[in-house]
Amino acid sequence: MHDDLRSAVSADSPRIRDELDRMVRIPSVSAPGYPPAEVRRSAEFVAELMSEAGLDDVHLLEIDGAHPAVYGEKSGPAGAPTVLLYAHHDVQPPGPADQWETSPFIPFVREGRMYGRGSADDKAGIALHLASIRALGNDLPVTIKVFIEGEEEIGSGHLVDFLSTYQELLQPDVIIIADAGNWRIGTPTLTTSLRGLVDCKVTVRTLKYAVHSGSFGGIYPDANIALARVIASLHHDDGSIAIEGLVESDADPLDLSLEELAQQTLPVDGLELMGHGTLTSRLWTRPSISVLAIDSVPISEAINQIVPVASAKVSLRIAPGQNPKEALTALTEHLKAAAPWGASVTVDPGALGSAIDLETTGPVYDAYREGMRLGYGAEPVEAGMGGSIPFVAAFRERYPQATVLLVGVADPTSRYHGPNESVELADIESAAVAQAVAFRELGS
Ligand SMILES: [Zn+2]
Repeated sequence: MHDDLRSAVSADSPRIRDELDRMVRIPSVSAPGYPPAEVRRSAEFVAELMSEAGLDDVHLLEIDGAHPAVYGEKSGPAGAPTVLLYAHHDVQPPGPADQWETSPFIPFVREGRMYGRGSADDKAGIALHLASIRALGNDLPVTIKVFIEGEEEIGSGHLVDFLSTYQELLQPDVIIIADAGNWRIGTPTLTTSLRGLVDCKVTVRTLKYAVHSGSFGGIYPDANIALARVIASLHHDDGSIAIEGLVESDADPLDLSLEELAQQTLPVDGLELMGHGTLTSRLWTRPSISVLAIDSVPISEAINQIVPVASAKVSLRIAPGQNPKEALTALTEHLKAAAPWGASVTVDPGALGSAIDLETTGPVYDAYREGMRLGYGAEPVEAGMGGSIPFVAAFRERYPQATVLLVGVADPTSRYHGPNESVELADIESAAVAQAVAFRELGS
């Protein structure tokens, strides 16, 4: 069954690759300081591809001050469910040029993978959606709406506005978000949970002004040392989180081995792992803390003074089930209580992003699993994700009745957001077959 869809996607393969190649060539970096005209050019190009894929009513969706999103739709039979397909066309900045083996915006294919910024995150998501629509041609079993966002990589700041302004236009029964990834190359994966994210800036001050480190060293602590103690207090010796009262649980262990983890991420020799419990629990259903940046005197400007003030940006990933506000309060109180020697500690609150736990039973999930079995020729797995996708919560709040699926074709070696980002081209095709089959199953 559904062999016609596999043949259609195989025949479409050169076009899928060509379209992805052309999308990656547009440096649609949404971050401040990069030309917004490129994000607009990217939106216009995606609109062109959507029209060529047979979508109707293709146009850019605009909100004041936002990078444009792209919309298109195609009607299925009367009474068929409406499926909203999401991906994003903006990308992260390329980062350090000397760490790229090939030019970030000139796609390069090697051993079945395409390299380039956005190849995996998330232009592959757009390619997958369009290929699944083309595979069905004019025989669409469901109504499709496509929404391609233009500012996911800067935190989807206007997504709530887009969803309220275009609430009727976008109204779905099912939402398929193609911005996650597969457990490993060739293994179809439904992402079932995401950690949330809260962060803050902590500032430690020990003196109003710097004083001479020879004259007063020995009685006054410098702010660097005090900040180091505050940061050190965030973990127990085994690397588990020392903040009281945070939610944690155990995740399905799946089959991640230490060897595979090391291959994916390249730690230094002898590095020990933090925390306790299975690897997947530590990655998906327990909190984690990273210190993202520290502001103090740079080494090049060091003088013999007692540094009076230093600050750090502290990022806390929260487990599914954790209330983000409560987590930020717990983090803030912990940081303040950790001040050594009476140092002054102030905390400026930052992001507040919810964790997500998806209900993965029911006919929509059954249809998608069946599609994945046929598309990939492998049994789908369910995996959590340690990262956060803040916009998933926005979709769920706006359309509480809709079933949300989180899929994608990135894999653990994709290095999205980093240099040498890449995607497995065969997985885009498998995913397109899977999704086309799922549409057919959903429509029947
Ligand atoms: Zn993304």
